[in-house]
Order: sequence, then structure tokens, then C-alpha cells
Amino acid sequence: MVNSYKELKVFLKSLTERPKLLLHSCCAPCSTHVIMLLKKYFDITVFYSNDNIYPKEEFVKRLNEEIKFCQGQAINVLFTEYNEEDYLAAIKGYETLGEKSLRCYECYKFRLEKTVKKAKELGFDYFTTTLSISPHKNSEWINAIGRELENKFNINFLYSDFKKEEGYKNSVKLAKDYNLYRQDYCGCRYSLRERSLGHGKTEKDNS
Ligand code: SF4
Repeated sequence: MVNSYKELKVFLKSLTERPKLLLHSCCAPCSTHVIMLLKKYFDITVFYSNDNIYPKEEFVKRLNEEIKFCQGQAINVLFTEYNEEDYLAAIKGYETLGEKSLRCYECYKFRLEKTVKKAKELGFDYFTTTLSISPHKNSEWINAIGRELENKFNINFLYSDFKKEEGYKNSVKLAKDYNLYRQDYCGCRYSLRERSLGHGKTEKDNS
């Protein structure tokens, strides 16, 4: 089992076939580096399922950017219809806790569950997410959730800590190179409010 980014690189080089990977993506900028890193080894399909995003116009804007970037890479994009009610139910009770709290843990889990179910339904070999590229996201939580779902659904989870080895920095560069829209808040209505109140860092603070 892969337990570190170092082990992930060894594992990637050991692959002799190109397994089918369902890659959950939160937005085009975060997916850039991950796609460039993994497309040598996997047949990737991007899965855009982000009911956390508010408002709907922002969800659509990020989806369109994702499609634009993936078209240039000859990668298919699957997406789910927007349903913020599902997200609100998943994080109920944690709304006011702030970024990096249990609200985010539940948000990661909610989106990874949708991903693993879709991967199972469509017969993918692996699933993972771009979420760990962000310095604001807790990779330990993401990997723990991924392992739990791997066992529950009997489908491989690909270890995810893509911020490592300048991954985040490279995603910022690639987003600029490809002229992609890059949001300045994480996504949910709460992070939008927290940004406007000046709480915490934004996605752009690290660029
Ligand atoms: S801040 Fe980001 S990760 Fe946390 S709950 Fe909101 S959208 Fe999800």
C-alpha cells in the first residue's frame, strides 16, 4: 500500500498497464498539475462533482473552465448536476466552524463518496481527488477517507498528496499558462462569507 508521496512515485513507475482512473476535480487550476503528473500512467476521466460550491453560477463557471482545460488534454469530463442541498445536509451542524475544520472533513468525504460510487458504477480501476494539491486541504484526512472508501467499495484509492514537490506552485503556474479562471475562495457559501470577512487565507494568497 502506498503511504507517502515518495512511495506513490515508485508505484507509478512500476505500472506496466494504464489503469482507468476516475479523478475527482474541484476546479481546473487544481487539476492542471495532477493531470500532467498522472496522465503518463493512467487513462484519466475527470469527475466534477462539487455541490459545495456557491452560488450555482460559480459552480458552472468552474465546470466550464475544467472542460476547457481537459479538452486541450483530450481528457473526458463527467459531472453531476448541481445540488447544494446534498452538501448542506452532509455538513449539517458544522456550518460555522471555519475552514480546515470538521466542516471540511465532511465536505471531502461527501465528494469522495460520490466519486467512489461513480467509479464503481462505471468500472474504473482507481479513484482519487485533486483536493490535496491545495496547502489549505488536509491530505491526511483525504487519504484516510480514501482508504475507508477503498475498503467499503472494493476499488483502489490512489494516494493523494499532490502539493508535494512544488505541486501546488506548478498548478498556479499552469493555471496562468493556460489562462484559467482562478477563484479566490474555497467554494462553499461559508468560505465565501469568511473571505469577505477577511478570515483565513484565500486560494490566491499562495500564488
Ligand atoms: S471551506 Fe472548502 S473544503 Fe471546507 S467546507 Fe467549504 S468548500 Fe468544503
